[in-house]
Amino acid sequence: MVASDLDRTLIYSANSMGLAGADNAAPRMVVSEVYDAAPLSFMTRAAEDLLAAIKEQSVFVPVTTRTQAQFSRVRLPGRGRGYAVTTNGAVLLRDGEPDPDWSRHIRRSLKTECAPLREVLDRLTGQAAVPAILRVRTAEDIFAYSIVDRQALPAGYTEELEEWCRARGWTTSLQGRKLYCVPVPVTKEAAVDEVRRRTGAGLLVAAGDSRLDAGILELADIAIRPAHGELHNDAYTRPNLTVTEATGILAGEEILRIAHGIVGQPAEPGRSAGLAPSAV
Ligand SMILES: [Mg+2]
Repeated sequence: MVASDLDRTLIYSANSMGLAGADNAAPRMVVSEVYDAAPLSFMTRAAEDLLAAIKEQSVFVPVTTRTQAQFSRVRLPGRGRGYAVTTNGAVLLRDGEPDPDWSRHIRRSLKTECAPLREVLDRLTGQAAVPAILRVRTAEDIFAYSIVDRQALPAGYTEELEEWCRARGWTTSLQGRKLYCVPVPVTKEAAVDEVRRRTGAGLLVAAGDSRLDAGILELADIAIRPAHGELHNDAYTRPNLTVTEATGILAGEEILRIAHGIVGQPAEPGRSAGLAPSAV
């Protein structure tokens, strides 16, 4: 089974693709997302081919903090089939439809373990608000994310917010211009673990670039992260973690090449007796 974050792990905007070198040597790319009638996210053509091959040979699960609506714009090979994790783990899609059992489980956890979203919104926009927080948005009434001017954030603001959130069953993550406040039980790894349990998949390969992905990297037998992003800035490491050599959109391709090298291998005789390739 292969579980991967999307933004800045597999797909890249023009601003995050980090192309270096001559324009005429740039990789060929495909559009993975259209927004407001314009192309927004991309992967290399080779990366898309690798992803299609991975989907043939294993259970591939896209795992994203995007809402369902934001995720629905992303066009990956085999879209709408199998499992996908959106809303940072609050929503488990099965063939494109939210799984009601999982949604119920999440609602119950939030009720018992976390302060309500309203309280977090009040903290972000009320008396403790800072001008560096430009806009505050909510995702499916589950979590909040703010568009921030990172340079203008007062020293210690994110640390204080993290501490405040922790005490209320919430956590934070700062990625690019987005500051996320997410309930602790809403994690990518919990949803990925559920998919692993349901599919009976054995080996788990996982990839991601941000702190919200650390849990799936820790859950994985083989973890991969790009040499850019929040975890890279944290110098994040763990056993069985491979860091790409490339950065930007080429790191996305490299991640899929590594994953394909693992799940694309013919199963060892004996060890896999009776195990269909799709259960890897
Ligand atoms: Mg990401």
